[in-house]
Amino acid sequence: MQQTPRLPDPDTIDLKRTYDAIVVGSGAAGGMAAHVLTAKGLDVLLLEAGKQVDTSETLKSMEWPYEHPRHGKLGPETYVLDEGDYGKYQPPYGRHFGRYTNVVNWQQLGEGPDYTKDFFVNEKEHPYTGTQFSWVRARTLGGKTNVWGRLALRMSDFDFKAASRDGYGDDWPINYADVAPYYDKVDRYLGISGVVENLPWLPDSIYQRPMRLNEPEVALRDKLTGTGKVLTPFRLGVTTDGLSHNPYRHRCMGRGSCQRRVGGCDIHAAFDSPTGLIYPALGTGKLTVRTNSTVFEVEIDTATGKAKGVAFMDSVSKKVLGARAKVVVLGASTLESTRILLNSRSRQHPNGLGNSSGHLGHNLAEHVMGPRVEGIYKPRVGGERRNEDGRPGGFYIPRFQNLDTASKSKKFIRGYGLEGAGGQELFPEQAILMPGYGADYKKKVRDHAGAFVYMYGLGEVLPRYENEVSLDRKVKDAYGIPVLRFSYRHGDNEKAMCADMTDNMQQIFSDCGLEITKVSGNRLTEGSSVHEVGTARMGNDRKTSVLNSFCQSHDVKNLFVVDGSCFVSAGNQNPTWTILALAWRACDYLSESLGKGEL
Ligand SMILES: Cc1cc2nc3c(=O)[nH]c(=O)nc-3n(C[C@H](O)[C@H](O)[C@H](O)COP(=O)(O)OP(=O)(O)OC[C@H]3O[C@@H](n4cnc5c(N)ncnc54)[C@H](O)[C@@H]3O)c2cc1C
Ligand code: SF4
Repeated sequence: MQQTPRLPDPDTIDLKRTYDAIVVGSGAAGGMAAHVLTAKGLDVLLLEAGKQVDTSETLKSMEWPYEHPRHGKLGPETYVLDEGDYGKYQPPYGRHFGRYTNVVNWQQLGEGPDYTKDFFVNEKEHPYTGTQFSWVRARTLGGKTNVWGRLALRMSDFDFKAASRDGYGDDWPINYADVAPYYDKVDRYLGISGVVENLPWLPDSIYQRPMRLNEPEVALRDKLTGTGKVLTPFRLGVTTDGLSHNPYRHRCMGRGSCQRRVGGCDIHAAFDSPTGLIYPALGTGKLTVRTNSTVFEVEIDTATGKAKGVAFMDSVSKKVLGARAKVVVLGASTLESTRILLNSRSRQHPNGLGNSSGHLGHNLAEHVMGPRVEGIYKPRVGGERRNEDGRPGGFYIPRFQNLDTASKSKKFIRGYGLEGAGGQELFPEQAILMPGYGADYKKKVRDHAGAFVYMYGLGEVLPRYENEVSLDRKVKDAYGIPVLRFSYRHGDNEKAMCADMTDNMQQIFSDCGLEITKVSGNRLTEGSSVHEVGTARMGNDRKTSVLNSFCQSHDVKNLFVVDGSCFVSAGNQNPTWTILALAWRACDYLSESLGKGEL
């Protein structure tokens, strides 16, 4: 595997020249923009708020818990927020934990947060206000792609044209046929593993070798056959066969640490933006990456009405700097890109840049989650030990509600999918709940280790105009930039969906002969899915949308927003593969338009 390239010292980067494009953010969206635009021959300056971390060194995927001084846990200066805190306190969350210097999000509760301690923001330095919201933010080269859960799903016309099907909300201005060629490009360039199932509502990808289901999962799949519910191996944004065009990534060796929360792969079999997109783009000689660069405003040329560049702060020296380009591409994540636009106020754009529709910040959506069922597949209790724990994912049961008349729900519209896993795991969570102690307890855990099964749901949150973020000018972050204020709540549709998830999962467990050991119907705090989308939605009507169907601002033609903020609705699919495909499509259009002199 090729070694991690060292990025240049930020202070040495030329900020006097005018680049073809400035890309803001280096996660899925920004990384893809950098890849596509440099491949088209454009000179790109990528500005990333965080620093470069050499994840090949720091993630230590092969380290056992006992090799780490604190079994992977964080030091005593850090408080990790848990679900109870998000539901009990009002944001800013950091202020409630005075004796800690560092307060981090709930995703750091797992088995190995010390390996990913450089990725996430300190809630004390980066507050937000308003309604309860569990906002997970990574500030590092690659953003959240360094730790994402890897479930890589396509959306379909059941999502893009959902409004026409059930009468709620708005259709997207594009359909599946527009995006399908870009999903194909993403599959081929980044690698994805899975099994073809031919489901129109969850289109297949171009798959590499799938992960093998284990015995409890195969039994579950067989029992579900013919019921309208399909159990398929996790569709993983992981290369299982390798990628001959990318020297920074190795094929998955199934080494188990994917199950360490939060995850991360030090051989980059799981897609992450630095090794998947940014380092290869450096090879074109067209990409300049400036880390430690927090963009807070897109600047406008008042004579032409076009974007002329951005203002940013060096995150270390706290110096305010500027950069110039022919085109500005925001990919700082859904809510951070929206924050930059809301903060880019001028006489011509008093309510934020590109906000003539008044829709910027509105229609925030994500996925509702929480309901979970756990159980035991009895035929495996006391069975032989198997080497089946080293997998980057378990199984997925795609949406089975509101697809046709037979599956129509009387209680809610849209749908949810079920994620889960069975069999032996590196960290068998369920063992903790088993009663007992001493030698008997250890034997019981060993006997049951291959028999555990769990399942949980993720459902579409409907986009609502009133679910919004705005700027709270009274509260500033560590750089003096106004923070976001949330006004966002789940509604009755989401609550009904959670009740249905809980019932259906129990039904599946009992129909399949699994002994249920735990049922939780609780809905997690808003934001817990880490799948925020919307807030700068695309549309054909500039009065009700912020971007056109190519993620181009209706108001400022050389401004593009290529992350999840362009989504019209969330679907029930995890968003990253769609963000990647839409960003590729937008940047193809951008480079063509720039070439024709239209920007
Ligand atoms: C634990 C976890 C599990 C997940 N599992 C899945 C999954 O299974 N499937 C799935 O589809 N998705 C999953 N996600 C979500 C997925 O990570 C995101 O959808 C994806 O990373 C979004 O890409 P992005 O580029 O929009 O944002 P990010 O990846 O967050 O990248 C944004 C980048 O912009 C930078 N930035 C922010 N503000 C500024 C600024 N002002 N100036 C300059 N730079 C800035 C940030 O530092 C960051 O590097 C998961 C996320 C987490 C945390
Ligand atoms: S299981 Fe595969 S994707 Fe996960 S950390 Fe190991 S090698 Fe990487």
